[in-house]
Parts: sequence; C-alpha cells; structure tokens
Amino acid sequence: MPVTTTVPVIQTPSAGAPFERSTVELRDVGPNDVQIDIAFAGICHSDIHQAREEWGKAIFPMVPGHEIAGVVTQVGSDVSKHEVGDRVGIGCFVDSCRECENCLAGEQQFCVKGNVPTYNGRQYTGEETYGGYAKQIVADENYVLSIPEGIALDEAAPLLCAGITTYSPLKHWGAGPGKKVAVVGMGGLGHMAVKIAHAMGAEVTVISQTLSKQEDGLKLGADHYYASSDPETFKALRSSFDLIINTISADMDIDAYARTLRLNGTMVFVGLPENPQSFSAGSLIGGRRSLAGSNIGGIPETQEMLDFCAEHQIGAEIETISADDVDDAYERVVASKVRYRFVIDTATI
Ligand SMILES: [Zn+2]
Ligand SMILES: [Zn+2]
Repeated sequence: MPVTTTVPVIQTPSAGAPFERSTVELRDVGPNDVQIDIAFAGICHSDIHQAREEWGKAIFPMVPGHEIAGVVTQVGSDVSKHEVGDRVGIGCFVDSCRECENCLAGEQQFCVKGNVPTYNGRQYTGEETYGGYAKQIVADENYVLSIPEGIALDEAAPLLCAGITTYSPLKHWGAGPGKKVAVVGMGGLGHMAVKIAHAMGAEVTVISQTLSKQEDGLKLGADHYYASSDPETFKALRSSFDLIINTISADMDIDAYARTLRLNGTMVFVGLPENPQSFSAGSLIGGRRSLAGSNIGGIPETQEMLDFCAEHQIGAEIETISADDVDDAYERVVASKVRYRFVIDTATI
C-alpha cells in the first residue's frame, strides 16, 4: 500500500451540490514528485461546468481547481526542476503520455492518448485526481510550472488556465506590432487576452455585449472598445482585424464576426459554445479567412507565458474569496458578475 497524506479540501459531493469541507488522500511523494502547499486557486468557468456535470459524466466527490499557485514543501529524490520553497503553479493537466508526437513536441495539451486532467480525471494508474480547492497537491515535477518573482501568487493563479488559453493563440497567430487583434468578450479570458495582446505590441479592440466594461478595457490595454449589441459596430469594423480571439461560449453570428477580419485573418475560438454553430462559407471565401480553435498550451509554452507575464508585470484582475463563498462565486461567474477572476484563498479551507 502506498503511503498517503490526508489534506483538507472543499468538495462537491454530487452534481450541482453545494461545496462542503472534507479531506482527500494524496499519494505519497514519489521520486519525481513535488508536494505543494497551495496558496490560491482560481475559479474557472469550466470548474462550474464540471461540478454541475454539464460536460458529460463526472467523478464525485469532486475537488475542482486547475489554476493553482503555491509553494513547494517537499521534493522526491530525483526531482531536479524545483526545490523546497519555490513558487510554483499547476494548470489543467498533471501528466501526459510523454511519447506521442504532440507530447514530444511539448504540446501536451493535445496528447494523443489523452492527458491526465488536474481534477475530475484519473491517473494512468486509475486513481482519481483532485484539484486546487485544497491545502496541498502532489504532482510530477514535469507538470509543475515555476512562477517568477514579480507576480504575486494570487494574481498568478488564473494565468495557469485563463492566461495560457489566450497567450497560446495570440503567439501562434502572430499578435505583435502592426497587427490588429480583436478580443470578443470581456470576462476572465477576455481581460487576459487584452492585457497579453497589448503587451505583445498589437493594436487591441474589445467587442463586448455592452459598453459597461469599457473603462476597464481601456485601462487594461485596449485601444478601442465596441458593443456587439450596436448594429453599427459590425459595419464600422468590416475587414479590420488580423486576428480575433473569441472567448464567448454563447450562440453567436459567426458571419458577422468573420467579416470583421482582413485578408488572411483568423478567428480563433477559445470558448466552447454548448450548441453547434453555423456559418456561411461566403464570409470566409470573401477574404481568404480562417476559423480556428485553440486549447490552453503545453508545458514549455505555459512557462514561457508566465515568464512573459512577469516581464510585463501582468497578473489577472482578481477578487479573492473565502472557501465559504465558492457557491455564491459560481452564481456570479454564470451571471458574468465578476471582475474578472475569483481566487480562493486556501488558508480559509
Ligand atoms: Zn480553466
Ligand atoms: Zn501524449
């Protein structure tokens, strides 16, 4: 029998049930493992989808959380990347097959075998995984990121999902000086996209449902701000953008957005609409435009993103909450009433 450590968590016992204090057993620290005292865990919208079992069968009790920031408290005998006392983070997965072409390319988020999700998943050996709404976590050092000095741990936590989800497509599709980037949606993902695209040197336009967050958007680095509810917006923005980062997960008029792309422009989906979406091929053909998708990032790129954010003094805009407030926070995320990311102070667990 492996030795285990019992750690305090907050968990949801069944789909949609309120969170409650409990404990889980973590595996003993193996030769390649690090044990982390979690300081903060961000609340991602996908936590809510999974805790409410909206994305298919889920594993309960569930301890969500894949935006984890903390400090290393123990290292296995063969660990070389991290030391006790290091500031570290964990994102959306804690292992991958390490053998497929995508893993070998450092794109473990696209592991052909399927990577091991940080929670609501199983290790390849079969044990359930538990996420960041906990005091501690044990993970393989190769899936643990270094958080540079210069970003506070609370503002760093959301970078592990929201940050990399937006950094990766901005990098892949060449956001930078001379490029016009639109960010659709001004929520947890959108506000990070604005900050990162601005830091990369792109000209940034936010397209949000209303102008209610315009002041914030301009402060965070947007050059322009438009409301999608205003029909004039899509006329004014025709053939404007090299790249659109589309963070919304609601039904949308894809053609209207596609027509705001310049020649060779690309619209990238990072949100996941519940329903299938349709579009007219004509809105792509008219400007050799592309529709694309992107999902988080691999370990090397996630580290690159954290280093980039430290260099540019970028963290998430956060509201720190206690473990007692997670149910309310979920309601507010669903109602888009958060500016812009909730972070759980795990000292309250
Ligand atoms: Zn997430
Ligand atoms: Zn793989």
